[in-house]
Amino acid sequence: MAAYEYETHEYDVVVVGAGGSGLRATLGMAEQGLRTACITKVFPTRSHTVAAQGGIAASLSNMGPDHWQWHMYDTVKGSDWLGDTDAMEYLAREAPKAVYELEHYGVPFSRTEEGRIYQRPFGGHTTKFGEGPPVQRTCAAADRTGHAILHTLYGQSLKQQAEFYIEYFAIDLIMSEDGQCQGVVAWNLDDGTMHVFSAKMVVLATGGYGRAYFSATSAHTCTGDGNGMVARAGLALQDMEFVQFHPTGIYGAGTLITEGARGEGGYLTNSEGERFMERYAPTYKDLASRDVVSRCMTMEIREGRGVGPNKDHIYLHLNHLPKETLDLRLPGISESARIFAGVDVTKDPIPVLPTVHYNMGGIPTNYWGEVLDPAEGDPDRVAPGLMAVGEASCASVHGANRLGSNSLIDLVVFGRAAAIRAAEVVDAQAPNPEPNKAAIDKALDRFDAFRHADGGTSTAELRLEMQKTMQENAAVFRTEEVLAEGVEKMDAIAAKMDDIKVTDRSLIWNSDLMETLELDNLMPNALCTINGALARKESRGAHAREDYADRDDETWRKHTLARIEGRSLRLDYRPVHTEPLLRQEEGGIDLAQIAPKARVY
Ligand SMILES: Cc1cc2nc3c(=O)[nH]c(=O)nc-3n(C[C@H](O)[C@H](O)[C@H](O)COP(=O)(O)OP(=O)(O)OC[C@H]3O[C@@H](n4cnc5c(N)ncnc54)[C@H](O)[C@@H]3O)c2cc1C
Repeated sequence: MAAYEYETHEYDVVVVGAGGSGLRATLGMAEQGLRTACITKVFPTRSHTVAAQGGIAASLSNMGPDHWQWHMYDTVKGSDWLGDTDAMEYLAREAPKAVYELEHYGVPFSRTEEGRIYQRPFGGHTTKFGEGPPVQRTCAAADRTGHAILHTLYGQSLKQQAEFYIEYFAIDLIMSEDGQCQGVVAWNLDDGTMHVFSAKMVVLATGGYGRAYFSATSAHTCTGDGNGMVARAGLALQDMEFVQFHPTGIYGAGTLITEGARGEGGYLTNSEGERFMERYAPTYKDLASRDVVSRCMTMEIREGRGVGPNKDHIYLHLNHLPKETLDLRLPGISESARIFAGVDVTKDPIPVLPTVHYNMGGIPTNYWGEVLDPAEGDPDRVAPGLMAVGEASCASVHGANRLGSNSLIDLVVFGRAAAIRAAEVVDAQAPNPEPNKAAIDKALDRFDAFRHADGGTSTAELRLEMQKTMQENAAVFRTEEVLAEGVEKMDAIAAKMDDIKVTDRSLIWNSDLMETLELDNLMPNALCTINGALARKESRGAHAREDYADRDDETWRKHTLARIEGRSLRLDYRPVHTEPLLRQEEGGIDLAQIAPKARVY
């Protein structure tokens, strides 16, 4: 057994992650008087949320008529009827409140002439239950909305005396014998010390796993660590086959050009100079939802109408927009285009390609952020002591496809909900449970095994192999043959974790070891994604099967649950929630409005 000394810390709540969701949860917990710690592997304001550009959706009606029910309808349709109705209703209804809270905390939103929060159009956001014109619903701080939110929330959390453990890497959950989460084991990257955080409630806010793919808009830190911890604890991951490709990553670099660029009037063209989206989505054109636009771009390229010497990408035009709009509303992406594509957006189009951007799947939760451990006959059973929020979680509001600007709102609505719920279920007076020694030892043993790993495969090589496989075998379009080959390849790749080689044995800023732990977290994410995709024999949202082109609600309107059991993976399913929170006579949505139908934009 590995011998590591560790320091023990006791809190009511430990939040792992300091992105938008982690900070909103931390702030809310601290405001409620709970002793709260936030652990983060990067400095809080360097979390991936800082890169969010376009904005945050809420039906404020600042730029024209809007209604939470229209927002809910768009979210339901965007999800391709896989989202949970109660969670989607909660999101749309609470969104305005959550945005005004951000405003009062000090987020410097862009303003209209009258001084209200500026809102722009975004893909899939419409009026009148999809019958009216696009709505201006996405609240923005220029094209640096995530930056503004993250800095504000960090400042507010400090004000509330939340304690931060910065550049601490959480290794594993501490689970009791009877399945209660009791805290986490973490490694201080800076001085090499080990720490046990004992808590009555652990909140995973560790973000997405975009880095399971070769070309992603997400930061290199987006390695699905929380999902990895959950998988190792024997809990399920949900709907992992749904991976969003953003239509406009810069060709080659993968850097994001926000959908706000099309919201402000940008459009896509093929090699014939044609605005092809008019052909595929006559009503909303370039502002159809992301899965739709990504597929159309891929089809144009496949049919030989891509641009560039290899006809392998598409152009995004902003050069017709007034310079003032570019300077005022899109300064960040004008700079990104110059640096990463060498393009002056006032003169030339930007070369773009669909790029992995967001994970709809994750740790299953209810709309309070409580993690679900579905059991036979009890699909909504709560796992005690554990919550998940943000991109790591799956509430599920995004279902099979997330609408742009619906993630930032998800972070703050559910970060806030988790804090409200924790104040109800956490007894601040009660003593902390004694953390399970066997679970701590197990976490330290695993850590030690990687630290001394002396196989024949380098972490960087194996990571690249995984990323290339996922990119090729779990792409925008999928078939049985390609997915089955991918599953086989991924099994072999995951098995090579036993042959991994770590060259640095030190404990201080050992990035080799940290990247190996991250790779070991990415593996279950990749496996659940590709196995879930092979099993799901229909097309829904971001999961487009060429061999099963239609959505099949009869068989497949259900959530996938994937559990890793040793070397194998078990798939299960749980029903989608179709009941709203409010009935129509209480001011809720007319259920007939959100009944499943074909998805046309
Ligand atoms: C380029 C880009 C632009 C985007 N633009 C928009 C937009 O305009 N609107 C929108 O709605 N959505 C947008 N999105 C999506 C949205 O920004 C993300 O889904 C969201 O920010 C994720 O937030 P999060 O709180 O879940 O996690 P993150 O912000 O990714 O933060 C994760 C946190 O977890 C911590 N962490 C992870 N693992 C560990 C570990 N093992 N130990 C300790 N700490 C750990 C990290 O340190 C970090 O603090 C964008 C995404 C990208 C990539």
